[in-house]
Order: sequence, then structure tokens, then C-alpha cells
Amino acid sequence: MPLNSVPIQPASLSVLEPVVGEDRARQIVSAADEISRGLSGRSVINVNSTAKGGGVAEMLLWLLRYIRGAGIDVSWYVIEGDAEFFVLTKRLHNMLHGHEGDGARLSAQDADTFREVSLRNSEELRAVVKPGDIVVLHDPQTAGIVPEMKELGAKVIWRCHVGTADESDLRQEAWQFLRHSLEDADAFVFSSKEFVPNWIDEDRLTVIPPSIDPFSTKNRPMSADAARSILEYTGIVQGNSHLPVPEFTLADGSTSRVNRMADIVRTGPAPTADIRFALQVSRWDRLKDMQGVMESFAEHVDGERATRLVLAGPVVTGVADDPEGGEVLTECIEAWRELPHFERHRIQLVCLPMTDIDENAAIVNALQTHAAVVIQKSLEEGFGLTVTEAMWKGKPVVASAVGGIRDQIVDGESGLLISNPHDSSEFGAAVQSVLDDDGLAARLGNSARQRVKDRFLGDRHLMQYADLVRKLA
Ligand code: UDP
Repeated sequence: MPLNSVPIQPASLSVLEPVVGEDRARQIVSAADEISRGLSGRSVINVNSTAKGGGVAEMLLWLLRYIRGAGIDVSWYVIEGDAEFFVLTKRLHNMLHGHEGDGARLSAQDADTFREVSLRNSEELRAVVKPGDIVVLHDPQTAGIVPEMKELGAKVIWRCHVGTADESDLRQEAWQFLRHSLEDADAFVFSSKEFVPNWIDEDRLTVIPPSIDPFSTKNRPMSADAARSILEYTGIVQGNSHLPVPEFTLADGSTSRVNRMADIVRTGPAPTADIRFALQVSRWDRLKDMQGVMESFAEHVDGERATRLVLAGPVVTGVADDPEGGEVLTECIEAWRELPHFERHRIQLVCLPMTDIDENAAIVNALQTHAAVVIQKSLEEGFGLTVTEAMWKGKPVVASAVGGIRDQIVDGESGLLISNPHDSSEFGAAVQSVLDDDGLAARLGNSARQRVKDRFLGDRHLMQYADLVRKLA
């Protein structure tokens, strides 16, 4: 069973300066130098469960480029597991969010599966990890690797991107399952303090909210025409032969183009590009509540004004560690078929190609750039990078007040928060209020962009990592 190594293209930290300013840029360069000296030849090895799809892969993709660009020997490996393992880890993921998932409980057989897959991956990691190296293991899928890496003499950081503030039996059961693997980790990183179980002591805890890279394919500025051209090529809006080829710029400044179309469920032809749309981009995951967005939009957002809804997610074979995608998409399509014809006509379900990760990112960028309002109606959320991405593009965001979304949006200032994510009418009314009032939409969007600039860009994230690595090294 091979462990997959993900290539990392180094990027220079100096490119951040025009966005974050001279002071912030100088601080981060000197922190990186200091770490590089502190590590003195030791490596930093990241391990997670997928190279594409979902927030963790999204973040590692750019964060590790800058770290390598700063001269630090950093690498990224993706574990292998069978279907049984990923069904189990998806259940753990749901339970840590306080939800049932597939409804099964954790059994002795599950513990065996978890141990076996963790051991097999650890065997592979032994070939690349040396004593003293820093190993950063991400999320429950990698928790079973902690004891093996400790035994090898590595310093182990376990980083958890999921959770909920609510104490529940499900959450406790999941922590109980993971706890004995995790107890010896040298450090724990959580996206939010609220997610931390009470057996983790303060000394080993660091809270680091995720962040985005303003120069990634997904977040770099895209002109309205470039966005339209991509949306037309993929079939999401109606074609206009006068537009240029659907080109986009990659993180390293080179250009590429979109070559694949999206898989789309809708009635009739695509809407024209002048028709405004509300957008939710997410994995097909029940906790993202795509179906709830659809029903709330159909029932509570004014149909007369011709606004459309786009629900976009990856093709369901595209995310290796997420076995529920196909099922959730099927449920959404069935619910869509149940809607009255007029409502069906206003809503399209879109699966984005995942073969080329930059092409996928460019389509997401185009969708977020073109959207009139961005929704994130999650029932639980570790952080919600889709919220950060839309805020950075100056979009008004309507999102549930759950998990890390509450750290990002100040309600009424940098977006609108819905206190009860199950309240479909409150959601619909908030979306409508933004669609009806361009002034409000612009105010929310401007302050959202500023908030991301102040708090959720990569330099802050890298500085926090630097502190942690300094402590451990
Ligand atoms: N995403 C994507 N293509 C898709 C759907 C989602 O690139 O078809 C990205 C999205 O833009 C974001 C990430 O996947 O960067 C999702 O991260 P988030 O924190 O919102 O949720 P998670 O999937 O980690 O629960």
C-alpha cells in the first residue's frame, strides 16, 4: 500500500507584501528564517487523508508552498485506506460535529480496522520520518498514527479541523475512541477553542483558525469577463461567442484554461449571465445542508425577481476520503425533482470536474466572483473556508452561526448570521434582504473583505505555526 506524496511547488513569501503591507511581510519573513535555523536540517512532514476536495487539502496546498519557499524542508503525504476505513472515519467526523452520520455506533471491529490501517500507513511513513522531525497529522483519519511516530522519536502535532461546542454523547463517544491514540501527541492544534475536549491540557494546546492565500488560483482577482467566460464554457450560464477562451491565472503567475464542462442538473437552457444567482459551494455532505438551502430558497426567496440558485460541489468520485458524497447528491436531486416546476427551473445542481485541481479552483473562483450573494447554511462547521473565500471577494455572505463561521462574520457588519441553521424562513429572508438592497450588499461585502485582510490571510497563520514549531524544535 503506497503512501502518496503530494508535490509542493515553492512560493516566495515576498509576494504577500502588496496585500499585507511591509510590516506584516517583514515579520513573516524573519519568523520563517528563525524556524529554518531552529529546525537545523530536520524536516516537517504533513499527513492527511486527501490531496483534493475539502478545506484541509485546500489549505495545505498553498501553506506548504510558502513554507517550502522559505527554505524549510516540508513535505506532504496522503494516507491510503480501504472503503471500510473511510466509512468509519466519516462517522467519526460526523460524531465530532455532534451528528449521527450513518447511524452506526463505534465497535470493537472498528477499532481493529482503525488500528490496522493506521499501522500500515505508519510502516510507510517510517521510511521518510527521522527522529527529531516534526510530523503534523491532520484530523481523525490520521490519529492512529500518533503513537507510531512518537515511538520513532518524532515530535508530533495533531491538528483537528472539525468539532462543535455542544457536548453530546456522540461527540464524547468519538473522543473516547480517539483519545488513547492521541494522548501522547506533543501538541494539539484546533481551529476553535470550543472544539477542544477537556482532557487536552492548555500547555499542549494552540488555537489556529485556518486562512486563505490571496494569490491561489481560487482567490486571486478574476475579472467579470474571465468569470463569465469560465461559467459559459462549463455550461453554468448561457454562452456568448464574443467572450475570450476561459483562461485563468495560477498561483505561480502562469496561465491555463478550463477544458472540462460541469455535470449539471436543471430544467431547460442555462440562464443568461445577467440573471443574478445565489451560490453555495460545498462538498456533498449532509452537514452542509445543500438540500436545506434549496428548499429555503424555493420557499422564501422571491421567484418573481428571477434570481437563481446554484448549488455546486465536486463530482462525487472526486473526494477520496468522503464516501457519503454520492448518496447526498442523490438525495438532493430527488428533493429537487419534488419541487414545483417553477422552482426547479430556478435552481441548478452542479458537479465540478476534479481531475485538474487548478481548473476546479478556477471554476469555484468564477462562481464566487459572479455570485450576487454567497450562502453557507451549514448545520455544523469546523471553519468554513468557502465563507472566507467569498468574503475576500467582497461578497455579501449569509451563513449559519455555527462553529468557525461565527469567528469570521460579525453579524450585520461583515455578513449576515442566522442563529438557527434549521430556520429556513430566516435564511430565505436574509438572502432576500441582501438581494433587495444593493447598498447593504456592498457594505457587507466591503467590510467582509477588510475582515479577511485583517485576520484570515496566510501571514497570520504562518506566524502562529512558526511559534508552535519554535516551541517544539
Ligand atoms: N471546494 C472546491 N470545489 C468544490 C467544492 C468545494 O474547491 O467543488 C473547496 C472550497 O472552495 C473550500 C473547500 O473546498 O476551499 C471546503 O472547505 P470548507 O472549510 O468550506 O469545508 P470542508 O469541506 O473542509 O468541510
